[in-house]
Amino acid sequence: MAASPSLPPAVTSLAPGDLESLLEGLGQPRFRARQVRESVFRRAAASFGEMTDLPQALRESLGRALRVHSSSVETVRRSKDGTVKLLVRLEDGRRVEAVIIPEGRRTTLCISTEVGCPVRCVFCASGLEGLVRPLAAHEIVEQVLHARALLAADGGKRNLTNLVLMGMGEPLLNYGPTAEALKALRDPAGIGLGARRITLSTVGIVEGMDRLAEEGHPINLAVSLHAPDDATRTRIVPLNARYGVAEVAAASRRYARKTGRDVTFEYVLLAGLNDTDAQAGLLADLAEGAHVNVNLIPFNRVEGLPYEPPAPERVEAFSAILRKRGVAVHVRRRRGDDIDAACGQLRLKAEKAGA
Ligand code: SAH
Repeated sequence: MAASPSLPPAVTSLAPGDLESLLEGLGQPRFRARQVRESVFRRAAASFGEMTDLPQALRESLGRALRVHSSSVETVRRSKDGTVKLLVRLEDGRRVEAVIIPEGRRTTLCISTEVGCPVRCVFCASGLEGLVRPLAAHEIVEQVLHARALLAADGGKRNLTNLVLMGMGEPLLNYGPTAEALKALRDPAGIGLGARRITLSTVGIVEGMDRLAEEGHPINLAVSLHAPDDATRTRIVPLNARYGVAEVAAASRRYARKTGRDVTFEYVLLAGLNDTDAQAGLLADLAEGAHVNVNLIPFNRVEGLPYEPPAPERVEAFSAILRKRGVAVHVRRRRGDDIDAACGQLRLKAEKAGA
């Protein structure tokens, strides 16, 4: 998205060559561009003042000619379980969420790729109001930089080890910016996250899944299946009318084959809708022997929606059926309940409050 006329450009939004030209315009040698980019991307500097490898006068003139980021962290909420939620305010006043999830030695960040979501899965808070707008590549990347700066400010005891594109939005319907962001996130001279530490979650946009594999992004893929048959899936994921279960499962297998990475089927368990023994059996048929893991996610209640998570015994019975069939299955634990860390809920609250 273009910066509004009154605002200087953000370093994150400039191509390296454009940053060089801008610095040359300030009478600076070209290598300054590399220094600035290293500060921003490698060290997650949040201001020019922190770039102490630059002369004081230059830090001041950079502060007038540029911004470090286009977005800012509006609110930080910390859960008792260690989960930290960042409400990020974009340049146009829109908001997205990013969540830091510490788990043993891992620290995973969950980021958003769109404001709102056009897909409208029936149980999901992000799609309730449809798509507001897709994010630009630098707006996706900035969520990672904000999280790293926050972890550093917390004393640096934790570093981001994993990244999941599982926040608001459908990344494969915002393919160009998402792919560009992935390139920046993996750049060894910058943020330097390994492909194996990145997971993209999609509702199953088949062309996007194929393109991702072909364009050499060997990241992990999670596919939101949510039902093993078309009748049920169409009730839950309206887009199933376009990309049906068989087609999505076939694209998942192609992805695993092409990239050598396992694919995960995400399956949000909704009481009485998709949680029967028969459905577990059908899901096992799809996952068995196909380099596919299953991630069962008991539904996280959303205010105003009628769905409920199944009782714990039902979740256990469902997963036991998969396990017996030799499918690798994982039941996702709830995190950050006390801070609305689930799926678009904090942003919705902020917007409703008219903040
Ligand atoms: N659009 C992508 C990524 C964003 S959603 C996708 O559909 O995969 C990330 C995951 O969170 C999806 O599996 C989604 O179905 C799940 N999710 C959304 N709302 C949820 C809720 N209230 N409870 C549990 N899981 C939810």
